This record gives sequence, structure tokens and C-alpha cells, in this order.
Amino acid sequence: MMFRESKKAGIVPEALPASPTYDAGCRRCVRLATFLDDVRAAYPAYRCLPVPPYGDPAARLVIVGLAPGLHGANATGRPFTGDYAGILLYETLHAYGYASSPLSRTADDPLTLADCRITNAVKCLPPENKPLPGEMRNCNDYLTADLSLLPAGGAVLALGRIAHDAALLALGLRRNHFAFAHGGRHALSHGRALFDSYHCSRYNTNTGRLTATMFRDVFDAIADHLGRPRA
Ligand code: SF4
Repeated sequence: MMFRESKKAGIVPEALPASPTYDAGCRRCVRLATFLDDVRAAYPAYRCLPVPPYGDPAARLVIVGLAPGLHGANATGRPFTGDYAGILLYETLHAYGYASSPLSRTADDPLTLADCRITNAVKCLPPENKPLPGEMRNCNDYLTADLSLLPAGGAVLALGRIAHDAALLALGLRRNHFAFAHGGRHALSHGRALFDSYHCSRYNTNTGRLTATMFRDVFDAIADHLGRPRA
């Protein structure tokens, strides 16, 4: 598979603004906070709070998803845990040596991530999995803080266009210089790179828009970038 590379190398600000990494009590997005209140009333066993990043604080790979799923991360409190979208993701992370297990069903299982951290563009469950642009911007401080930990030579994997746009915003980069494309690879400063993939959602995998082979092609490119073995 051919990987496209952006012609313009991005410039990551040398001094990223100090931002909170996570706030379980955040209610900046009134629509989402109110929605979570309603979902909590309907599903009292679900966590129904902003979902924090999960994984290795020193990771060289940061994966950015869209937002928590109703019966997945929103219920369990761990990104991509307990729902369909996590099946292909954790299988792949395990195959490439990032995850200690190919399964991630509950937040109290012993699964650990090494050299990898997973976060979301929007930390709260949005109605119909569709955050509004203003909600993505509201939540970008948290993503900025998370991506500020990425070391030189590291990689960001954006799952879908909204995650791609959120990552660019968090990195202080202009969207028109870095078009989203599945299999895209965008050079950033300090040897970092942004990789794009279609989101590993049930819809995308069931329709064949994203196959396991296509997903592994992206992870092969990331492994090459990081100097890690392919699966
Ligand atoms: S989506 Fe982000 S900014 Fe909005 S309420 Fe949740 S944590 Fe706060």
C-alpha cells in the first residue's frame, strides 16, 4: 500500500500551552453534560463521565479516537473498551506488541499498553456519536495537553477525520496543509508524524470501508516510523 505524505512539514509549537490533561467534573459542553446526566439516569451502572486517556505516559504512539461510545468507553471509563470499535483496535495493538491482551472488555481487566496511549478528540459521549464542532474545540485543551507529551520521533494516529482535525488543532497546525486521507502520513516537526486511518467503527468494518488488512497497513507504517517490528 502506498502512503501519502504531506508536502508541508508541520510546526509543533516549542512551548505548548499548559492545559489540564483531564477533568472528571468538566461540564464545559452544556449539551454533552446534560446528555450524560440523562444517560446516567437511564443506565445507573455506567460511568457517564469524561473518559480519560489510557496507556503509557511516555508512549511514542498516541491514538486519537472520536468520542466515547454509549455502551463502550462511556460505560467502562476506558477508551474503546467494551464496545465493537475496540475489537479490531485492541486485536491490532496486541499483534504489534502495544497491548498485553487482544481483548479489552472492562476497565478492571489486567490489560496494559506499552509505548502507546489512547485518547479521544471529545471526552464525553455525544448524542448519535456526533460531537458538534464547538464541542471538539471545547475539549481540545485536554488533547493539547495529551499530545504535548509526545516525544520527538513519535507518532499520532488519527482515527477518522474529526480526530485528524482535532489533532491538528491541538498541535497548532492548519487544516488546509494536512488533508485527511486513509493511509495518509503527515510529517511534523521534531521527527514526529501524523498518520490517518478510517475509524475502526462497527459501520466501517461491517461495510468493508476499513478492513483488518487496511488497518494493519497503517500500523506497519507506524512501526516503520517508530523503528518497531511489524506484526
Ligand atoms: S467534551 Fe470535553 S470539554 Fe466538553 S464537557 Fe466533556 S470533557 Fe468537558
